[in-house]
Amino acid sequence: MVLPKLDTASAEAPETAPAEAVDVTIAPKPPRPGELTFTSPRRAKPPRHLADLTSAERKKALTELGHQGFRAAQVSKHYFGHLADDPAAWTDVPAAKREELAGILTPKLLTPIREQTADNGTTRKTLWRLFDGATVESVLMRYRDRTTMCVSSQAGCGMNCPFCATGQAGLTRNMSTGEIVEQVVAGARAMARGEVPGGPGRVSNVVFMGMGEPLANYKAVIGAVRRLTEPVPDGLGLSARHITVSTVGLVPAIEKLTAEAIPVTLAVSLHAPDDELRDTLVPVNTRWNVSEVLDAAWRYASVTKRRVSIEYALIKDINDQAWRADRLGRMLRNKLAHVNLIPLNPTPGSKWTASRPQDEAEFVRRLQEWGVPVTVRDTRGRDIDGACGQLAAAVK
Ligand code: SAH
Repeated sequence: MVLPKLDTASAEAPETAPAEAVDVTIAPKPPRPGELTFTSPRRAKPPRHLADLTSAERKKALTELGHQGFRAAQVSKHYFGHLADDPAAWTDVPAAKREELAGILTPKLLTPIREQTADNGTTRKTLWRLFDGATVESVLMRYRDRTTMCVSSQAGCGMNCPFCATGQAGLTRNMSTGEIVEQVVAGARAMARGEVPGGPGRVSNVVFMGMGEPLANYKAVIGAVRRLTEPVPDGLGLSARHITVSTVGLVPAIEKLTAEAIPVTLAVSLHAPDDELRDTLVPVNTRWNVSEVLDAAWRYASVTKRRVSIEYALIKDINDQAWRADRLGRMLRNKLAHVNLIPLNPTPGSKWTASRPQDEAEFVRRLQEWGVPVTVRDTRGRDIDGACGQLAAAVK
């Protein structure tokens, strides 16, 4: 994730206790160059959580265990509405039943093991440990007019983009809907409690731009989108228009998403207008090439009427040439699209760096000449490795 300019002096020291040992037995082998992993290794499933279930399923889960069905809505309201994580606060539930109901509906899915802040506390990255020792990160970014949670959808990633820290580590496993939703609820809780400078507030936006390829974990991600958008007590009640799902371009999954007709914003990580270069920067291009991905994006735009966001990390002397800007401009003119240029964020072991300012400016100018809307994202969270492509969930 990247956004307004970082005040680089403001990175603060970790606030939480040092991490305990993480289960290294589930760490994947780093992928070979170009190697793709589409399916998650089979592992034990995370505990079932009410966020994994529709309201009817929650009711059923309770009645099967001999509880009254209406308790499901009560607990759900505490979870999504009051953001109450302590069952002691569920005063409309008999005290003797609270712990048992919490065990059934709200098992702890995420344990914070490190928190880092920047931008005077308005950017905060959290490293979470999942039930099996897998680790993921999420980033909260508070702006004047909105607060965005950048969430992970997989522990690691199988898409192996060479400039992305997450991609270099390989795929540990898919996350469950509950594990994805919990990241947003944790951010909403921190906002509600006034823990983020600026006074109490709410999370307004969610971007699936943390670790993982969301469309490679389709079912859980759609479940999370539904839970995030359903009104309380079924879900968190966010607007679908304020949710962005970012993808490397898994065409069949984009088509499935189009058919759902949920008006989330689709972001496509393009990074090159030509197949020759994109094959190396986004290895999945060898499966679905630039024109196939863009065709799927335009179908998405025409069905949802949502402008597609084209993500393009500017890498010095790799993809930032004026001719590539022209080629991109020609492909995107008159389309329902917006280009998000991301100055490349540094990642360990990568030889690439961000473009020169003059090349970036020329790239912007040429896209504008083609009439293509373009913005340059500033790199929020970069000094805490919380910016786009820097999430690696390293437990140091
Ligand atoms: N897998 C999905 C979701 C991750 S989103 C996807 O790729 O779209 C993270 C965004 O940051 C993607 O656009 C990704 O290409 C971009 N990114 C990755 N590494 C980066 C880096 N080092 N600098 C800038 N952007 C990067």
